Formats: sequence, C-alpha cells, structure tokens
Amino acid sequence: MATVSIHPSVDQGVKHGNPNFAGGTLTCKCAQQQVTVKITGNVAFNHACGCTKCWKPQGATFSVVGVVPRDKLSVTANAQKLKVVDPSAAIQRHACTGCGVHMYGRIENKNHPLYGFDFIHVELSKEVGWEEPKFAAFVSSVIESGTKPEQMGAIRARLKELGLEPYDCLTPQLMDLIATHTAKAKGVLAA
Ligand SMILES: [Zn+2]
Ligand SMILES: [Zn+2]
Repeated sequence: MATVSIHPSVDQGVKHGNPNFAGGTLTCKCAQQQVTVKITGNVAFNHACGCTKCWKPQGATFSVVGVVPRDKLSVTANAQKLKVVDPSAAIQRHACTGCGVHMYGRIENKNHPLYGFDFIHVELSKEVGWEEPKFAAFVSSVIESGTKPEQMGAIRARLKELGLEPYDCLTPQLMDLIATHTAKAKGVLAA
C-alpha cells in the first residue's frame, strides 16, 4: 500500500514534546537576512491543518500549526521583509517576502473568539521539545488544494494511525469554545 504523506514532521511518527519546553526561535528559509521570530514559551493546540490558507512545506498535504499567546511572540530580525498575505482574512498571516514562509498569523479583531493567540509553525525552529501535534483539523479541505476525494479514506486512516484524530472543522473542544464566545457576544449566554 502506498504510504500517504501528511507532513514531513509527522510522516515518520509523531515525536512527543517536552512539557517544560521554554520556547525557541523561528527562522525563515531565506539564504541570508532571515526573518527571525522569538517565542518565549511552548506552543498549544498544535495540529495538522488541511485548510488552503496555512503555509506548508513543498509536497506536504497538511500544514502543522499551533498557537502561542501574542505577548510571547516577537520579531527579532528583518521585520521589514514581512508582509500580510491577505489583509481581509481574520488571521493576518505575516509572510516573508523573500521565501514565502509564513512567520506568524495574528488576529487583530478583538471580538474574534481566538483573539490573543498567534499562529506559528514550529518546524521553523531548530529547538527540539515543542508540544507535538495532537489532532488534525479541516481535513476535508485538502481536496480544495488538489487531493483526490477517493484518497480521503487513506488519509483519515493514516491520521488516526499517527494519533492525529481527524476533524473536518476544529476539535469539539475548540468548536464549543468558539460557539460559547459567540453566544456570550449575542447575549444568549450570560457573559
Ligand atoms: Zn525569508
Ligand atoms: Zn490551516
């Protein structure tokens, strides 16, 4: 049976992180004048994402993306090379104009349920110990980037084998969190 490639960082098995990991530096893929982003703390909600918006390495079916509180993230070199990919998107993905890598995604809308979190790709760091990806989100969306629908069974089976439970949106925990935020904003639930 042909092996399904999910993402280079998990294809050989998911490596567990270090719960006491203190952070590291993300570096873009330019040969010189790299953009660097310092993260002071571990990543959370790290996962494989099948959406068409997240940055992923060449050939990968999924991205691997997680979040950090925005005050734990700072651009430490060559910030002038960063440009927002799509200013109209909820997540402002700051990409390097040299190599195209997304260095971080930030939500500027204070009313957004996930405001306060920045989205990062820990594979851009050499440090070892980041929290491992724990689930797969927006799995069906890989069809939108060219995966054949008939491959989806094998992809979902491989994700389960890797311990990355596949969801077609986010996890129930995150969907409940977002719905709770929306219900409070509407006054349906007491704030
Ligand atoms: Zn770059
Ligand atoms: Zn995504």
